Amino acid sequence: MGEKYKHIETAVIHEGYDSKQHLGSLAAPIFQTSTFVFDTAEQGERRFAGEEEGYIYSRLGNPTVKALEDRIAVLEGAEAGLAFASGMAAVSAVLLALTKANDHIICSQGLYGCTFGLLKLMKEKYNIDHDFCEMKTADELEAIIRPETTCIYIETPINPTMKMIDLELVAAIAHKHGIAVVVDNTFSTPYLQKPLDHGCDIVLHSATKYICGHGDVIAGLAAGKQDLISQVAKSTLKDIGGILSPFDAWLLLRGLKTLPVRMDRHSENAERIFQMLKKEPMIDRVYYPGDTEHPDYLIMEKQMKQGGGLISFEVKGTKADAQRLLNELKLIKIAVSLGDAETLIQHPATMTHAVVPEQSRLEMGITDQLVRLSVGLENWEDLWDDLKRALTAVEMK
Ligand SMILES: *Cc1c(COP(=O)(O)O)cnc(C)c1O
Repeated sequence: MGEKYKHIETAVIHEGYDSKQHLGSLAAPIFQTSTFVFDTAEQGERRFAGEEEGYIYSRLGNPTVKALEDRIAVLEGAEAGLAFASGMAAVSAVLLALTKANDHIICSQGLYGCTFGLLKLMKEKYNIDHDFCEMKTADELEAIIRPETTCIYIETPINPTMKMIDLELVAAIAHKHGIAVVVDNTFSTPYLQKPLDHGCDIVLHSATKYICGHGDVIAGLAAGKQDLISQVAKSTLKDIGGILSPFDAWLLLRGLKTLPVRMDRHSENAERIFQMLKKEPMIDRVYYPGDTEHPDYLIMEKQMKQGGGLISFEVKGTKADAQRLLNELKLIKIAVSLGDAETLIQHPATMTHAVVPEQSRLEMGITDQLVRLSVGLENWEDLWDDLKRALTAVEMK
């Protein structure tokens, strides 16, 4: 962990905030202000010139947001952190900061739907090309690197097949070529996986998910080396402007305090549900990172602490059967997003990945029968009762 706190369970609560500096307030204050008053004109000049520390204007920095940025940096083992208005604001700010027109990006085979959409936009508008790569071997990656490759962008585990990428392997090759490695760590959070410890350069999050944990904020975070993060802060965050509000930063500081406790329960519940789903005749395939028979289990053991809370599975039958399963559920809610206290289920082909063309979708393993479950914090037996009843209803149709 950081210099101050040895363990992540302590750092999530204390890092980045000192009550002594805030009249003893136990919770971090919400600095709900757009701007900051200078003592003198000269002080304003010094702050703008970067010669004096201090706040100027909340798009350029805010104390509540800064506490969150400092906390995520330490949790990820990074030098600096940044907060954004959404996960996509983080993804777009980082990708635009690392590329210019005619550059090339290599990405994992399987991406969040809107990240896929962003790459398409970057290609159409700025001729920033991209290639997908399984990244299973050094040779495969070496073969796809071009002189103009500036960034490798990874999701692992990959939604929905839970294939995993060996981060150490990718980072070693990327660095030989001076290429930055960016990891979307939304599914795992720093409690389960720390990409920077495996040599990657920038880690980012849709903090909307597990980091918030309560389904009430849209937010993004990024963390990495000081020079890379400053590059993002001074270019794409400042001038494009997708900053996080102080109140939402405060909600994330609060959510983070229980991250380790929640991730343990999400993982335990998901493991139980996975074991039940595996035995279920109405289900063709189940994907879970904690599956000891998963072809990538060795990578999981190397870089993840537990399997996490996400499971995807294919319902026997057709798209209509998958949709029927969703409709039959009572406790489990039909909704996109993940990482909340409530268990959520969605149909990727028509929801999160509807923007991805059918051919690419099938290559990612997103069939019409596939559903994704974000296992919440309820009692797992109640969840299983709901699933079992709905599966029986599909079977009897
Ligand atoms: C949700 C999500 C995003 C986008 O985040 P928003 O907060 O919705 O903008 C990016 N990556 C992954 C893996 C996600 O699940």
